[in-house]
Parts: sequence; C-alpha cells; structure tokens
Amino acid sequence: MKVYNQLFINGRWTSASSPKMIEVINPFTETPCGRVPSGTIDDVEKAVQAARNAFDGWSAKAPAERVAAVAMIAAKLQERKAQIGQTISSELGMPISWAVAIQSSLPANVMDSYAQLARDFQWEEKVGNSLIVKEPAGVCAFITPWNYPLHQIIGKVAPALAAGCTMVLKPSSEAPLNAFALAEIIAEIGLPPGVFNLVTGAGGLVGEALCRHPQVDLISFTGSTRAGRRIGELAAQTVKRVTLELGGKSASILLDDADFKKAVSNAVKQICLNSGQTCSALTRLLVPRARQDEAVAIARKAAAEIAVGDPSDPATYMGPLVSARQRDIVRDYIRKGIAEGATLMCGGAETPAQPKQGYFVAPTIFADVTNEMTIAREEIFGPVLCIIPYEDEADAIRIANDSIYGLSGAVWSASEQRALRVARRLRTGQVAVNGGKYNLLAPFGGYKQSGHGRELGKEGLEEFLEIKAIQL
Ligand code: NAD
Repeated sequence: MKVYNQLFINGRWTSASSPKMIEVINPFTETPCGRVPSGTIDDVEKAVQAARNAFDGWSAKAPAERVAAVAMIAAKLQERKAQIGQTISSELGMPISWAVAIQSSLPANVMDSYAQLARDFQWEEKVGNSLIVKEPAGVCAFITPWNYPLHQIIGKVAPALAAGCTMVLKPSSEAPLNAFALAEIIAEIGLPPGVFNLVTGAGGLVGEALCRHPQVDLISFTGSTRAGRRIGELAAQTVKRVTLELGGKSASILLDDADFKKAVSNAVKQICLNSGQTCSALTRLLVPRARQDEAVAIARKAAAEIAVGDPSDPATYMGPLVSARQRDIVRDYIRKGIAEGATLMCGGAETPAQPKQGYFVAPTIFADVTNEMTIAREEIFGPVLCIIPYEDEADAIRIANDSIYGLSGAVWSASEQRALRVARRLRTGQVAVNGGKYNLLAPFGGYKQSGHGRELGKEGLEEFLEIKAIQL
C-alpha cells in the first residue's frame, strides 16, 4: 500500500488544503493499493503561483542546462523502471511484463529522447532581415488519464521542461501513484522550486480550476473527447493554447492480398493489450466480405490463446479492466452489440469463470458488424474487436474514414505500395503498414474529434514553444 499524504508544490512536499483523500484500487484484488490527496482550488492556486514565479528563471536558462535536467530524470526513470512498472501494474491492472516493457520503460526512453532532441534543436534562425526565435510557451497545465499514465505524463513533462516551460500536473484519480514516483525523482535531482508541481484531485474541480486560471498559458490534455470539449470551452475564455489528445475508433484494413493469419492474430493481440484500454487501439477490423469466415476462424483461435489472469504473473498477457465502472461500460457495449444484430463469436458480457476476482471481461469478438452500429461508432475501451465486412478497396477506405475520430489506423497488403496508397487516404494521425512498429520519435495525435496538436518527437517539442520574429 502506497500512501502519499502530500502534494508536490514549489519544490516541497506540501500538505493539501483538505484532509480528503483519494483511494486507489487494485483492479485485480479489488482492494486499495494506495491513497493520495484530493486537492482543492487553493492547492491549484499555490501550484500555479509557484509555476509562474519559477518561469522567468527556468525559461532564461541555457538549453544545455535544461537538457542536463531532462537527461538526469531519464536516467532515474530508467533505474527505477522495475519498481515503477510494479506500481502501475497494481493501480492499472496491466500484467507486469507489459507494465515494465511499456508503462515504465517507454516513458524513460521518451524522456531521454527529449534530451537528444533539445540538444539538436534549432532555437533560432535567420530569415531575410528577421531573427526567428523559439521561446518557451509559459506556465502549462497537464491533465492526464489512467491508461498509459506515466507515458502520457512524460509526453508532456519532457518536452515542456526541455522547452523551458514550468508546469502543474493533475494526473488521473484511478492511477496517480506513478506521478508521485516522478515527483520523487524531480525532488531528488533538485529541479528549481516551482518548475514542476503535482496536484491530485477531481477533474471537475482541480482540472477545471487549472483550465480557468488566468496565469496558465497552455493546457495539454489527454483523455476522453467529452472532457476535451469541456476543457476547450473553459480554456477559450482566456485564449489559452490547448493540445488535446482524445479518443479513437481506429480501423485496420485487411486488403485481399494480405497475410490474413498474421494480420488477424495481430489484431486480436492488439485489442487485448492493456485490456483494450488504448486510445489508438484498432477496434474495427475491416475484411473483404467473401473472406469474413476465414478471418473469424483465425480471430477465435487467437482469442482462445490469450493468457488472461493475475497481472503479477509474468506469463499473463491480459489483466482486468481498470475499474468496476469501466468493466460495466464495456459490458453494456457488448449487450448493445448483440441487441443491434452483430454476431458474438467469443467472449461476452458475462463475468468470465476464471479468474474468480478482478474486473475482467473476456476477449470478445463480433462479426457481421456494420459501421452504423453503436459498437462500431463509439469508443468501448475494452477487449472488444468488431469485424466489419467490406465490398472493395474504396468501400474499405470509406468505412475506415466514416468516424468522428481520426487517431490511428492500419493497412495490411502483400504490396507495400498498395498499402501505402490506402494509408495516404486515411484521415488519421497515425497509420501502421503491415504491423509497422511504434516509433517514439514520430509525432502522435489525432485528426477530427481525436484532438489537435501532436506529442512526441520534434513536433511534440514545438507544441511548447512560442515563435517571435525580430526584424533587424
Ligand atoms: P477522462 O477524460 O475521464 O479523464 C482524463 C483526465 O481528465 C483525468 O485526469 C480527469 O480527472 C480529468 N478530467 C475529467 N473531466 C474533467 C473536466 N471537466 N475538466 C478538467 N479535467 C477533467 O478520461 P479517462 O477515462 O481517464 O481516459 C480514457 C480516455 O482517454 C479515452 O477516451 C481514451 O481514448 C483517451 N485517451 C487518449 C489518448 C490520446 O493520446 N489520444 C491517450 C490515452 C487515452
């Protein structure tokens, strides 16, 4: 049980203004695994003020000094990845092997990538008689979700620190413990007071107070489209810069010449990763109508092979959902899919026989899904794959793009040229061709209602910069 009684404000562990605490539940044991303060508007005020006061000093530091701090944090994250992976596995329920590989190692690598990117970045350039200067955007507020909690935090904190911004972080209430591990590291390396501040608390209270605050210059939010809309509205009142990384309903297109076995097995594994709680999950699998049965047979076999169970067992592939609430949302969607006429091929809304505890939903596959059904339109955020038959290539592209979202996508074909041609026509921020690997230097973000702005890589750094033109 990890108990953090204090917030991190102005370089010090500081008592919250209210004694109220947030209980963090381990979704496998269904018992508390931690407790953190439930912050208030007063805490936001102190944290924003600290960030404001720290801004002049931090933003004036030479990039090399900021790079050194980023590199030190990266090294500490790397050192502690086993421990942090364990923490995230307990608050989120992601199996330990994956939690270390993704939840704690990836953020360490992303932090490190910003030491390198900031080192190589061109902070100034001459254009004719002008000097173009890139300057830190100011005081930032970061509001983050629970599904890849530290990765989503570091995707903001790393470029912001490198750019010379100061910040207040409000992590999710479901998985906040990793944010405290980061604050401990920041306290250890001795970042100047106020550069990084941590305030936990409810989204509607602490989150909204940050969005309203006149001293906050920029908000970077990752989470649901619903909360993103609200944050955009609040931020507009003081014309803040806003980056939104929101939901998705991404499609994977299997062209008729694709390696079906590889592509379909990959689709099932991918939808079960982190129990389907991945914003860029490829939740719609588009297959040629004549070959739907073939795809279904491969998918059922792959689903039966997914090792579901105790997250602390290194052999487990899929753990529980993050909370009872999330499990119930997913079950409701499964029931809706059945009611609207999709064919349930495996899994379902019932509690699986095994394991006996934890918020589990079995890997669930629907066939004969049409793109008009609720399960094809709304983000489910659970291990549910919708197989949608299509007529021809043009139809597949039309279905893939027929969504309010535009976060990710995939194309499978024996011809990379053909796959690339289809990839170019998808209205999404990312596309994987034939299972192309995740690249932490590639910009990540959405088209349409999946948000705006980009994280990671050079584009992620530029989100935190203002541009000044000085005419000489
Ligand atoms: P959520 O929107 O409920 O919460 C995210 C964060 O916003 C939390 O810290 C929460 O406390 C805060 N929040 C909620 N309402 C708020 C408000 N009115 N004002 C200010 N802050 C508020 O989302 P979640 O359930 O934590 O995460 C799941 C969602 O996140 C999914 O929709 C998923 O697709 C999305 N997501 C997107 C990306 C991406 O990069 N595009 C990555 C991960 C998750």
